[in-house]
Amino acid sequence: MAYGFWDRILRVDLTSGKIWEEHPGEAFFRSHVGGRSFIAHYLLKEVPVEVDPLSPDNRLIFMAGPVTGVPLPGAGRHSVGARSPLTGGFGESEAGGFWGAELKHVGYDGIIFQGRAERPVYLWLDEQTVELRDASHLWGQRTGEVEAKLREDHGDRLVRVCQVGPAGENQVLYSCVINDLNEVAGRTGMGAVMGSKNLKAIAVRGKKNVPMADPARIREVAMWVARTMDENHYNFHHYGTGAAMVGKHLEGHLPVRNWQEGTMETVSLIDAKAIKEHYLEKMDGCYACSVRCKKRVRVEAMSVEPKYGGPEYETLGAIGTNTGVDDLLALCKANQALNWWGIDSVSTGATIAWAMECYQRGILTKQDTGGLALEWGDGQILNQLIDMIARREGIGDLLAEGALKAARKLGRDSEQYVVHVRGLEVAMHDPRAMEHMKTNYPVNPTGGDHTGGAHARTSIRNTIGVCQFLAYDEPTTLDILNAATGWGMAPEELDEVFRRGVTMARLFNMRCGFGRDDDRLPARFHEPLKHGPFADKPLTPEEVSRVVEEYYVAQGWDRATGTPTGETLERLGLAAYATA
Ligand code: SF4
Repeated sequence: MAYGFWDRILRVDLTSGKIWEEHPGEAFFRSHVGGRSFIAHYLLKEVPVEVDPLSPDNRLIFMAGPVTGVPLPGAGRHSVGARSPLTGGFGESEAGGFWGAELKHVGYDGIIFQGRAERPVYLWLDEQTVELRDASHLWGQRTGEVEAKLREDHGDRLVRVCQVGPAGENQVLYSCVINDLNEVAGRTGMGAVMGSKNLKAIAVRGKKNVPMADPARIREVAMWVARTMDENHYNFHHYGTGAAMVGKHLEGHLPVRNWQEGTMETVSLIDAKAIKEHYLEKMDGCYACSVRCKKRVRVEAMSVEPKYGGPEYETLGAIGTNTGVDDLLALCKANQALNWWGIDSVSTGATIAWAMECYQRGILTKQDTGGLALEWGDGQILNQLIDMIARREGIGDLLAEGALKAARKLGRDSEQYVVHVRGLEVAMHDPRAMEHMKTNYPVNPTGGDHTGGAHARTSIRNTIGVCQFLAYDEPTTLDILNAATGWGMAPEELDEVFRRGVTMARLFNMRCGFGRDDDRLPARFHEPLKHGPFADKPLTPEEVSRVVEEYYVAQGWDRATGTPTGETLERLGLAAYATA
């Protein structure tokens, strides 16, 4: 008997309505384990270069890991992947919450969609039923209304819903796939792919326990998390993310005004401590997680409801400091709007920040914006722009393309102000001050994502289905995987799994036309920080080149081009993919 997975992948052709199962077998699961490798496998096998990301021939892949759905803090993660419509390359994003665990509890490890439904549909899954159902009544509805309606229709308030909001229907290129109303596979535009397939939602309800090889060890680790909460997870437990924003300001590397500045004197008005003081209703958690780091805010005066969560650090940075907005009420409202429309907060904030810088420099004027003054720090304009982007109205239609594509459409030398890696707007962690990001962004398979995982630790957690925030050390992470699966993997074998994943993603990116010249940081990060301990340590293009080449060599890729060598492909068992 297999442990940790069911050996069941659901395949759904939305064009024909055909539904079937695949059983790749234990050796395949052990070789690829979860998210990234699975996604890359299906993309390399089934999505040739000529396939437009928004065409029926793209695949939309949902994969849980072997640990997803076991009763352990952090084990509620799943991955979503496709060829990205935002970047044109490898698309992957992870989400927490309950939906991924529920999918495992129905008895599936993953779902792969292809084709395009003639009319809007949703997929209903429980232990007896797999069915595409009409979603015409849900199309155009915001996420909260869709979840409530599906729960009502199925007569069960514990139905877990993963969906696209209206932004995904409108194919905003950075729309997300959102589950449980405030958990998002946010990066690389997976929502636009889902919307392009006329797939509104996947509603799941299951009660099966994921089989575990060593449940006692899983229980022991879960108890350790609860017992050592204050020692290991104090800040997450009490504030979620965003408690350290004043620290970033003091050190001079807070993302401010499209990364032009690293400080914002008023940051304490909008950080996690301010949220806790003024608007926090409660902290909440993902499946089986005692850390409970998720904020739920309520602002009655603005009809902000706790079911949409509350702004976390990436959001506070992207639509807050990076657009110069220090109005916490406006940010709570904007956070809700992002979640009900279903748009990625990082790309939204970064694209608006790019537009604001263009306005600051006179590149964009009121003639372009329909009379809107895109001034830094205007929370009302921020909220207006979010609504316009989701609806693709006015200037929002241009901004819905993401910062890089928008700049290329606009011209006027505006591309130099886009802060992106391979078309993905960079997450809110400055590589000029954070070594870990300097060595991640330029070579990360998806581009400027801090959780995408060029590094082993991040990548392995995404792959096995465990949250990045849990203070598990590397041996414990491996222990958890082995307790779930019974594989008895050694650290070296898990390291090969990581290498297999990044190398397969590399092959797919190369197929899509990306190469050595794309592995770089944007010009903004070669400007010096202005204040603090990193101000006199400029990050040069030569330094980034060195980092990139070292990564290539460490992965067994050609030092000059980043092409995986034949020897590496043979060792990882990937030779067939290179020619797929
Ligand atoms: S630490 Fe936070 S984000 Fe991670 S699983 Fe727990 S509640 Fe979810």
